[in-house]
Amino acid sequence: MKSNERKTPAEEMSVVVDLRVVKPLLSCQICSKLMKQATSITLCLDHFCWECIYDYVTEHGGQSCPVCGVYLGSRPLSKIRRDQQYERLINTIFPQEKKEVEMESKTSDVSSSSSA
Ligand SMILES: [Zn+2]
Ligand SMILES: [Zn+2]
Repeated sequence: MKSNERKTPAEEMSVVVDLRVVKPLLSCQICSKLMKQATSITLCLDHFCWECIYDYVTEHGGQSCPVCGVYLGSRPLSKIRRDQQYERLINTIFPQEKKEVEMESKTSDVSSSSSA
């Protein structure tokens, strides 16, 4: 007699996530793509890519949240913060395909050829 069907409910904690519902929540409101380096505005907890919101406040002089318009004050950068928990959540739900391979093989060898 073999009873292979041993179910351990404690271990099989699988959560069914409807990606169509979740994805918009994890998408950047600026570039409308899945967030990279999730960053939140501490005042309103809206989330963006780090690059998007950083660019927004530095390059474009944004002083308010692009989503809800909350005023970020004179130092907007102090109101944005990397949200690593959020980022981990995104990476868990949407495992990144390893496209971005950081190749550090390019070593720029500076050969000083002193030819007079
Ligand atoms: Zn973005
Ligand atoms: Zn906001």
